[in-house]
Amino acid sequence: MGRKIFRAVCQVSAAIFLASLVLIMGISYGYLTRIVRTQLKAETFLASQGVAQSGIAFLHGMDPEHERITWIAANGDVLYDSNAEKGLMENHTEREEVRAAFDSGYGESVRYSRTFADRQLYAAKRLPDGSVLRMSIVQRSVWTLLLDFAQPICAVMLLALVLSFVLALRLAKRIVAPINSIDPDDPLQYCDRDDYRELEPLLRRLACQKAQLRRDRAEIEKAALIRQEFTANVSHELKTPLHAISGYAELIENGMVREEDLKPFAGRIRQESARLSRLAGDVIELTKLDSESVRRTDETCDLHRIAENVLESMESSADARQVTLRLEGGSATVRGCPQLLHSVVFNLCDNALRYNRPRGTVTIRTEQDDRAARLSVRDTGIGIPKESQDRVYERFYRVDRSRSKDAGGTGLGLSIVKHAVLLHHGRIELNSIPGEGTIFTVTFPRQPQTEERER
Ligand code: ADP
Repeated sequence: MGRKIFRAVCQVSAAIFLASLVLIMGISYGYLTRIVRTQLKAETFLASQGVAQSGIAFLHGMDPEHERITWIAANGDVLYDSNAEKGLMENHTEREEVRAAFDSGYGESVRYSRTFADRQLYAAKRLPDGSVLRMSIVQRSVWTLLLDFAQPICAVMLLALVLSFVLALRLAKRIVAPINSIDPDDPLQYCDRDDYRELEPLLRRLACQKAQLRRDRAEIEKAALIRQEFTANVSHELKTPLHAISGYAELIENGMVREEDLKPFAGRIRQESARLSRLAGDVIELTKLDSESVRRTDETCDLHRIAENVLESMESSADARQVTLRLEGGSATVRGCPQLLHSVVFNLCDNALRYNRPRGTVTIRTEQDDRAARLSVRDTGIGIPKESQDRVYERFYRVDRSRSKDAGGTGLGLSIVKHAVLLHHGRIELNSIPGEGTIFTVTFPRQPQTEERER
């Protein structure tokens, strides 16, 4: 940045210097031209008076150093020319200034030399006898003038270059120094200082970004901690059924199980394996929900139809537990992922069945209005104590560990439900009275026009 500022200052100085040079040269040249012309005119008038009085003798008495003097008779004959060899051969009557003098008494003109190195200024004056006296002088062009001034110009240019170099160096340092000394950990401390006034927006942005970074880091750390805890919990949850399975298998292998106990042992092994596979399934589902990269389908799904399928799949286990399953209400459509919505309905119904009492009921109700689609799952089970109601959605949280495990629970069902509901911009509520039963209500927002169109 310092180098950029330095280069910019040097470029600006050079541009200003060149512009001033052109301007000064232009103005000086114009001024000089005006002076030379006035002088030439005055000298021509003086000389013509002298010639009118004393004739050619006056001209012979003159010793012009720079001017050329020509005297042309009224008939065009050249009576005198200070540059005799050249002058006598030329036809002067055709010259612009001479013609003007013959016609109106006085004429001027300017002609460039072939090389444009210099130019000739002419002034001609008619005498009382009708002849014309012409004087001319060579004026140097701007370029020759520039050459004349080359030395002082170079000296000034050098001085300007040195000055702009020093200035640019100091300026660059002064601009960059406060930026370099900013403490990125506390950029706002400079806001009140004079030399940081222009940098205030930058300082505020830095502070904003710093705060954002801090928040992001805290979130990443929190997510890492949650993942770590989750992994530790999963390993712990896996160990228990694995130990049980290997323990039962070892006993059978060593012949330590009586013939009549073999069947219940096999039953325990099957139960523990079922829990293992359920746990694996739930962990996979949660991991999928956690990874944002997973592509989710967006279809119109009917919660009523999903509930029908779920209840059908649960019929045999409901019979075994002597629990009655009921489905009420009508169609309730939601835009979303069918697998996730199935998971929501299944987990809620499964819990309602597992934490129920014999001869209890599970009632599912689906309904919709213009703004929302609703699903409620009510059971007549053990209920959830008030102090646990907020925590049941936490991963691996169980109100009663042994009861959950006996019921084949993993402690992950409601976390999956909550996660999936939030992904569909819905909300979940729970009302429960211990000993009487629980009702979970899930509400999804609807966009009626779009859904009607799609149907
Ligand atoms: P689990 O696999 O243990 O059922 P969940 O995440 O589905 O795990 O539920 C967490 C805990 O919430 C359960 O262990 C249970 O204690 C309680 N719970 C969930 N649903 C019900 C319900 N319908 N009735 C009573 N308790 C419930």
